[in-house]
Amino acid sequence: MPTTWNEVPDSHKGRWHSAFKECRPPYPLARVCPICGAKELRAWYQCDVRESIATKTGRFVGRGAVWEWCGACRTYRILGARVPEWWDAYLNSAETVLLEPPLALMKLRTTRFMP
Ligand SMILES: [Zn+2]
Repeated sequence: MPTTWNEVPDSHKGRWHSAFKECRPPYPLARVCPICGAKELRAWYQCDVRESIATKTGRFVGRGAVWEWCGACRTYRILGARVPEWWDAYLNSAETVLLEPPLALMKLRTTRFMP
């Protein structure tokens, strides 16, 4: 297993986006990682500002960020994101088993992705 985290290479961004499109729990997703082929794709939303947002793509509880990563090959992407309403329900469901992003990934947002 790689010991470093690597951003999704440009050559794979389209397939990565497709793999996570409309992704919902449970995690890991049933879809395969476009980089390594493992079924270890996970996502984590963080809500920084709570506000109700409704768009034609769905309902959201606020704005923040999403981490998307593969637990096998350690490829990741961090994006600004609206936090979907279903994420709140997921966090609050009794049967949820959460796996937060590794700390190293959480730090990457503040060191590289925040203005
Ligand atoms: Zn992978």
